[in-house]
Amino acid sequence: MTADQQDRASPTGGETRVRQARSDFGGVAGNLALLFALPIGTAYLYFCVRFNGGDLLPGTEADLGAFAQSLTPSWETAAVYFAWLVFQALLQAFAPGPTVEGTPLEDGTRLRYRMNGRSSLLITAVVVAAGVGSGLFPLRWIYDHFGELISVITLFSYGFGLFLLIYGRATEPRHTPCGVIVDYFLGAARHPRIPPVTGFDLKVFFEARPGLIGWILVVFSFAAVQIERQGSLSTAMFVVCALQLVYVLDYFWYESAILTTLDVQHEKFGWMLLFGDLAWVPMTYSLQAHYLIDHAPDLSIGAAAFCVLLGLTGVMLFRLSNLQKHRFRSDPKGLQIWGKPAEFIETRHGNRLLVSGFWGWSRHSNYLGDWLLGLAWSLPCGFQSLLPYFYPIYFAGLLIHRERRDHERCAAKYGEDWDRYCRRVRWRIVPGLY
Ligand code: NDP
Repeated sequence: MTADQQDRASPTGGETRVRQARSDFGGVAGNLALLFALPIGTAYLYFCVRFNGGDLLPGTEADLGAFAQSLTPSWETAAVYFAWLVFQALLQAFAPGPTVEGTPLEDGTRLRYRMNGRSSLLITAVVVAAGVGSGLFPLRWIYDHFGELISVITLFSYGFGLFLLIYGRATEPRHTPCGVIVDYFLGAARHPRIPPVTGFDLKVFFEARPGLIGWILVVFSFAAVQIERQGSLSTAMFVVCALQLVYVLDYFWYESAILTTLDVQHEKFGWMLLFGDLAWVPMTYSLQAHYLIDHAPDLSIGAAAFCVLLGLTGVMLFRLSNLQKHRFRSDPKGLQIWGKPAEFIETRHGNRLLVSGFWGWSRHSNYLGDWLLGLAWSLPCGFQSLLPYFYPIYFAGLLIHRERRDHERCAAKYGEDWDRYCRRVRWRIVPGLY
């Protein structure tokens, strides 16, 4: 039996996980509330930025009628979105790229993943550029159909979430049912594939392809609309688009690092991740670029340089810390970190916990880097409205909550060894502060 098998088979490990799943995100009531609150929140942010003058609270400029009308989905938007999903799925299935193995599963085997994100991204860029250049697909189409897209993606997520529930329950032999709502919200299968095991990996696909690439198309669409309206691209819009593009390019450059993250290794795939990846990320992470279409903060070259520097610091911290853990977990033999052999804590479970490099600074320096980058792409919007700061505020909450969930899971999994690790690496996210 592998260490992970023992952990899952042990009555306390299994019970802890089921208990955690049942109480995660407020249990049944919380899951149910979020099923509606997340789509409503996505639409509300769209309302604020497009129909409320960029303010967080409804004011005199609020145009509820136009907002409601813009949300009505059309067959055209549904068809375009469906074509986008199929196109990205075909790329994941057939675009060239190396095949790598994931971390060991409960039964000791490893799933294989085709890491073809870079070629998929490149092919997408060529196809979109051809569509835009030929006039077949004007970039502003996304801006014009944004409200419809929110509705279409939400409806798709509700429907596909149902498929994930049924398929997950049918194909995941070790799943302990936690009730329909929890299983629908958090998922029933950890690695749903069609066909199971060897087939198309649904979680890795939805985690990155349609949503992350889509996010960049969304911000480019906003930039195109700004150029149309104002005749040029503002410095602030340029900085926001550039930093968000760096984030997405970084993901695809180091794509295989996704395999050692919480989402891919441990989370089940249900509505929450699906909606987050398909709607929440592209529609709300693009809020700053959306805001900048009609707002022109006075961003000096010095301020722009500061934002770029902060963003690059964030992305380096995020990427280098994620890579340190990824390399340590994938192939620790002879691994050097900052010129010295990697230090770690040996656990009775069998896994090792890295305590050198960024992992000696805090237990999640990667979260700090990610947050700094988000702050850097919000600052160019200036300080006239709180709306562009929705992302860093929400994201701080998400990361704190995520760290707590992970801490609870690891404490149950590693027991005293986790306590030892926490004594050695004292800070949770921000060294010296938190
Ligand atoms: P991590 O990549 O930090 O993975 C956590 C897991 O790593 C733990 O469950 C544990 O798994 C293992 N681990 C923990 N400590 C150590 C250690 N010292 N040495 C070795 N392994 C360890 O977390 P996430 O998956 O949450 O985050 C990955 C990245 O994704 C982050 O940079 C985060 O900022 C980003 N992210 C971005 C989001 C967004 O919306 N923009 C949302 C969520 C995440 P095990 O049980 O295997 O030991």
